[in-house]
Amino acid sequence: MYFTELDPALFSGKTIIVDIDGTLGHDGAKTMTQETMAMVARLAGHNKVYLLSNKPLPERNAAFSQLLNIPYLHSPYKKPHRKIAEMLLDGEGEDVVVIGDKYITDGLFAKRINAQFIKVKRITAANEGVKARLAYLIDDSIFAVLHFFHLL
Ligand SMILES: [Mg+2]
Repeated sequence: MYFTELDPALFSGKTIIVDIDGTLGHDGAKTMTQETMAMVARLAGHNKVYLLSNKPLPERNAAFSQLLNIPYLHSPYKKPHRKIAEMLLDGEGEDVVVIGDKYITDGLFAKRINAQFIKVKRITAANEGVKARLAYLIDDSIFAVLHFFHLL
């Protein structure tokens, strides 16, 4: 299911970390659809929602944060590094959910911080670059292997 197809009623009182590229828009997206923005707003109504991206696009990330009115998680680490969670978790028992389109970044990050992972369907651009396509192909392949050995 795509991000916009999530059921907001299933999320309440949680800390939700949302990926950007492939999740809120296509890889490198500078804009979001109204539906995407509406879904973020609905989630933010009953949960603490944060944006987190591995993409070195600080201006885009800041613009999304401002547009959605939710904080961006600034960390010197990249997903799936567990230390990112230090920026966020102020105590035990926080119910954390990671929403993203990639297993080897979002999924593994969730696993490492004991969070729930929700894999959303990847938003792709019509003219997706070779690099992005290759990254997705590698992600899907690694997932298949990890899944086969019951590691994820
Ligand atoms: Mg992504």
